[in-house]
Amino acid sequence: MRPVIGITSRYLNDKKHYNLPDAYTKAIQRNGGTPIILPPLYDIDQEQLLGMIDGIIFTGGPDVDPMLYGEQPLPKQGGIDILRDTFEISLAKKALAGKKPIFGICRGLQTLNVAAGGTLIQDIPSQVDKPIKHSQETEAWYGTHHVKLEPDSVVHGIFGKEQVKVNSFHHQACKASAPGFKATGWAPDGVIEVLEIDSPYYRLCVQWHPEHMHKGEMNKLFSAFVEASK
Ligand code: MN
Repeated sequence: MRPVIGITSRYLNDKKHYNLPDAYTKAIQRNGGTPIILPPLYDIDQEQLLGMIDGIIFTGGPDVDPMLYGEQPLPKQGGIDILRDTFEISLAKKALAGKKPIFGICRGLQTLNVAAGGTLIQDIPSQVDKPIKHSQETEAWYGTHHVKLEPDSVVHGIFGKEQVKVNSFHHQACKASAPGFKATGWAPDGVIEVLEIDSPYYRLCVQWHPEHMHKGEMNKLFSAFVEASK
């Protein structure tokens, strides 16, 4: 049986449409999984949703409301999405309490960290000392900065080396990692790019977008995740 992978999505309020880049569903299909898109909804039985899937991806998107990690919004804090925050923070807490593989990508890393009690850097350019550029302006398949990986980490085991080249489309990042979360990858400016969740299950979060870099080694993140979801 192919593992069923739930993928969080966004709701476009102006168009009344649900929306998800197809790179996520393609990455799951390419690696032998069956993707299903999870619409953000108020008042839905989330335990039932989680019972229908074998693994879950928390995807990219707008900023998490800083009030959810106990901070007032700074001037450069970006747009927030109340529906997604409500749906995903609750879903993340339930998923983290469960036994299924979890893969957090970009906002997904941030969502999972906040759901578990961590905090975020609201805006890298104004809050990090000597930051590099994390909002690249070239094609998404192209890696624009390095990430150094912790030896003996899960992510190091997946790539088999200490440094990878990643794309970068974020102005926020993990500040304090949540209890049970551990940083295992960093950009050259010290920004956290990988969080691993202490668990017997595959629980990895990356700050970049591997779904857009699938022709290279980044597909290994998806193959390991789908394999763990079997
Ligand atoms: Mn980056």
